[in-house]
Amino acid sequence: MARETMTGKTHLRRASVLALLVAGFALVSIFPSALADSPSDPKRVAFEAVDRNAEAIATVGDVLYYFGEPGMQEYESSKYLKSTLEQIGFKVELGGAGLPTNVWATWGSSKPVILIATEMDALPDGSQTPGSIPRKPLVEGAPGHMEGHNVMAAMAVGAAQAVKKAMEQFKIAGTVILSIGPAEEQLMSRPYLVREGYLKDVDAGIITHIQNSLSTGYGLQNYALIGAKFTFKGRTAHGGVNPWDGIDAVDAVELMDIGFDKLREHLRPTYRGPSDDHHRWCAAQHHSRRRPDLVVYPGCERTLGKGKFRQVGQRRARRGADDGHDDGDGTVRCGVAVARQ
Ligand SMILES: [Zn+2]
Repeated sequence: MARETMTGKTHLRRASVLALLVAGFALVSIFPSALADSPSDPKRVAFEAVDRNAEAIATVGDVLYYFGEPGMQEYESSKYLKSTLEQIGFKVELGGAGLPTNVWATWGSSKPVILIATEMDALPDGSQTPGSIPRKPLVEGAPGHMEGHNVMAAMAVGAAQAVKKAMEQFKIAGTVILSIGPAEEQLMSRPYLVREGYLKDVDAGIITHIQNSLSTGYGLQNYALIGAKFTFKGRTAHGGVNPWDGIDAVDAVELMDIGFDKLREHLRPTYRGPSDDHHRWCAAQHHSRRRPDLVVYPGCERTLGKGKFRQVGQRRARRGADDGHDDGDGTVRCGVAVARQ
């Protein structure tokens, strides 16, 4: 066990050293100035800029890969992106909207304002050997870029640089914003950015995410996702002495879950109930031999409006408890009267 931990630490140290080395290399060689540009077509100039910088863009992705920082902990990644973006002429704000690792980079000052948005967080437990398709963690249990957010951030930097290059060369008016927010996996950054007014002057936004094909779409591609905490209170009792006196709060969560699953077929097509990746439980005050008397279930629904969300949330809560009521802040609290007596 100790040997495994030592090995893990050694790998982690090696991965960090490698990331710093690659980062150092990237900072001196990134985005060399143009040699010859196509004179007539802005799009061609942008494409050529991407081709010319292909290696540098890949290096940005590699550096982020070896940092492998999970959501809200992208400290080295965001610092590195800041210095890279400053090198190519962007003004960079780090830590906006109360998010310490938020990267907000701007070039230009006039309209239209074009936003390229993406993220840079690694997956918890996502450590993976580069180039290996079979699961092979670099560091057992460590976070890592198994999903490829490192590539997203690198591609966005390359795209922003290419668009800037074409706009400069052809004196095209406009502002390019690159938003690399923290914690996509925890659905974290964009509501904060919207609430702080970061997006109010944006005319068009391009959001990138890695996928198994190179494709684009436009319009509403995803619904907004609103989360709420469903709190179930029960009554604790010792599992070995008097379990019959307890009311198990987990039972209520299970019943709500099963009930909501049955509700799905009656929901309108605009609703998206919890999918597998939204099924995350966190139990509080739980002890292995006691009946848990408090469970917080962070459920998520995708809907088109807050009011509709609340309706569904209440229906969902009632599947687990018979006296659900809305606290008025989006939190639905429930008793556990349906938990077995
Ligand atoms: Zn993702």
